[in-house]
Amino acid sequence: MIAGWFAGDGDGFRLLGTRCSACASVFFPREDIFCRNPGCPGGDLVEVPLSRRGRVWSYTDSRYRPPSPYVTDPELSWEPRALIAVELASERIVVLGQAVPGVSTADLAVGMEVEVVQGVLNEDEETTWTTWHWRPAEVTA
Ligand SMILES: [Zn+2]
Repeated sequence: MIAGWFAGDGDGFRLLGTRCSACASVFFPREDIFCRNPGCPGGDLVEVPLSRRGRVWSYTDSRYRPPSPYVTDPELSWEPRALIAVELASERIVVLGQAVPGVSTADLAVGMEVEVVQGVLNEDEETTWTTWHWRPAEVTA
């Protein structure tokens, strides 16, 4: 697990961002050094769990293998994955992420409600690296 980006698991899984105490801007990935709002005098950045649900703002699919320095195994075929930009209304931010495995762009529509779920980025015998996926909220796994 990448420390500081996630909290909880199962239905309690949440992305963690930070919120500026001066202007209430929310940042994800978390910003811990200084508020990036150019109109803000600067405030303390406080960790906040983000909303579990948002709405599809845009989406596409990754048809091609990303160029270097992205590392892929050339022995493996490249599986297209749906990428979703999700608008979190109360935070007023858009968070990018992959759709859960099995969900393609054909299953998505702008405005559709989606929820964040825990996913596996990579794993070996000792470690599982966590990531997040977006799943249509109507679908129950
Ligand atoms: Zn600020």
